[in-house]
Amino acid sequence: MDRRSLIKNAGIAGVLAAGIAPAVHAQATIRWRLASSFPKPLDTIYGGAEVFAKKVSEMTGGKFQISVHAAGELMPAFGVVDGVGQGSVEMCHTVPYYYFGKNEAFAIGAAIPFGMNSRQMSAWMYEGNGRKLMNEFYAKYNLVSFPGGNTGTQMGGWFRKEIKTVADLKGLKFRIGGFAGKVVERLGVVPQNLPGGEIYQALEKGTLDAAEWVGPYDDQKLGFNKVAPFYYYPGWWEGGPEVDFFINNKALEALPAEYRAIVESAASHAHIDMQAKYDARNPTALKQLVGAKTKILPFPKPVLDASFKAAMDLYGELAEKNPDWKKIYSDYRAFQKDQILWFRFAESRFDTYMQGVTL
Ligand code: CA
Repeated sequence: MDRRSLIKNAGIAGVLAAGIAPAVHAQATIRWRLASSFPKPLDTIYGGAEVFAKKVSEMTGGKFQISVHAAGELMPAFGVVDGVGQGSVEMCHTVPYYYFGKNEAFAIGAAIPFGMNSRQMSAWMYEGNGRKLMNEFYAKYNLVSFPGGNTGTQMGGWFRKEIKTVADLKGLKFRIGGFAGKVVERLGVVPQNLPGGEIYQALEKGTLDAAEWVGPYDDQKLGFNKVAPFYYYPGWWEGGPEVDFFINNKALEALPAEYRAIVESAASHAHIDMQAKYDARNPTALKQLVGAKTKILPFPKPVLDASFKAAMDLYGELAEKNPDWKKIYSDYRAFQKDQILWFRFAESRFDTYMQGVTL
């Protein structure tokens, strides 16, 4: 009896009982390229794409291979979304807020000032309307997104001088990522956009007064504490920034259904993995930074209050001129409101108590 008639006569149960694997992995090897927006030394965030690609390969028995390319290798760091939309590469790993210049609604898919934290963002994406609304929007750019990591709440960055009042922000040359610049410029800050590799020198020379990057684990590697000793918290513009995998919609559709499911599962795995790595590694780096005489300070409440007001004013203006923003933001904000209500009772109370006891 040949293999085909064996399957026909015995059915799948019989085939499995006979020890013959069904032909689900028979297709030819698929090869994709993934362009990352991150450099290799940022192992936690760049590594998210490698975690994803490895999982996809393992789940397909090596039949679906995705090569990961660091920023600049195939295209510039911030060119990756255009590269995927145009189909030059099948997918990328990036932070949606980098593209707020195309449309401010991109920022909502990553982080907006005074937005949701990492847990709340995942809840909106997976269980709320987040993925549905964002993917409806991304479809205009031929993109399908999958959550692909989160850093958790970031630090507020490194300052050469203390920030005591709102007035201290006036004229401050601050390297701050993406969309947040739209808010801080309303407080007199002069936002600067500088790649990671150039920040140290600019702080040292004084062409920058302050710079934010990520958090202790990533910041420590760049040595900012030697040139800007005041390390502020929290990074209120990045309460829970999401990193995404963007896939060209036609490339995704062309995959066999089982591979599409594998892509989704591997992305979810990478999503959790990145947050776990940041949470596990930040405390050691924080302790070492404190040991190296870093002064860790909270932003004064009036600074937070003024920034909050500036953010809300901006969002109100955007809702009037950008229908995509209005639609997505209203759902996001309503969801966040409920999340804060819930987190206030259990999580926040528990965390606050535990931070006050000696373990
Ligand atoms: Ca940042």
